[in-house]
Amino acid sequence: AWALEIENLRKSYGSGFEALKGIDLKVREGDFFALLGPNGAGKSTILGIVCSLVNKSSGKVRVFGHDIDTDLAAAKLNLGVVPQEFNFNQFEKVFDIVTTQAGYYGIPLSKARESAEHYLKKLGLWEKKDDPARMLSGGMKRRLMIARALVHNPRILILDEPTAGVDIELRRSMWTFLEEMNRNGTTIILTTHYLEEAEALCRNIAIIDHGRIVRHTSKKELLTQL
Ligand code: ADP
Ligand code: ADP
Repeated sequence: AWALEIENLRKSYGSGFEALKGIDLKVREGDFFALLGPNGAGKSTILGIVCSLVNKSSGKVRVFGHDIDTDLAAAKLNLGVVPQEFNFNQFEKVFDIVTTQAGYYGIPLSKARESAEHYLKKLGLWEKKDDPARMLSGGMKRRLMIARALVHNPRILILDEPTAGVDIELRRSMWTFLEEMNRNGTTIILTTHYLEEAEALCRNIAIIDHGRIVRHTSKKELLTQL
């Protein structure tokens, strides 16, 4: 099955600037997929549209067959999103941030608590569950973002530059965590401007530049051609 299908996606921002110039992209269920490209290439814009945080100008987006124009709620159930910026309430407690998110998906509180506990433990944040988020270190905040994105057990996890500004130790442990999620069946799509990161993690890579896909390739193929 296709986890994500994008057809002829275009985006012009207010001023008329064309950030996406016709993107075609398909990601298979179970894939570990990178959107690789320099800053300003359009990677975040693509993810923003998939998650319906940004309005597209034209084109089609389907998440497990659900068109985001006509079937957004169903599409969203399948998506967990980790944006670049920390956008939780810094004064809310770690545990509440994660369980509140589950509520947005209609998950009953007892289930939400179970799932929050599971992911906070997995991400090494369980001892911090009663702390307000502002007390956490930068690395912990990033892991909190991931726990929150996973609480409804989405089939696709989307991360925008997950390890930008992260120290090497946390980067390694995040890579290990993402690899384990992927082995257990979660489709992972991330953006990165580090070739190294795409290389270490991903099976398939689309290289984006100036709003276009300039290459769409498997990692194996890419490495033999560099
Ligand atoms: P949309 O077309 O999705 O409604 P807009 O074009 O209205 O988005 O842009 C949202 C806001 O972001 C505007 O106020 C715009 O000026 C501002 N903005 C302009 N350039 C940038 C940029 N390079 N990165 C982020 N925001 C920008
Ligand atoms: P990337 O994630 O690859 O760094 P982005 O998708 O953030 O790229 O940005 C693609 C292009 O669109 C850039 O030139 C950026 O300045 C522009 N852009 C992004 N957001 C806005 C906005 N809200 N308004 C106007 N321009 C924007």
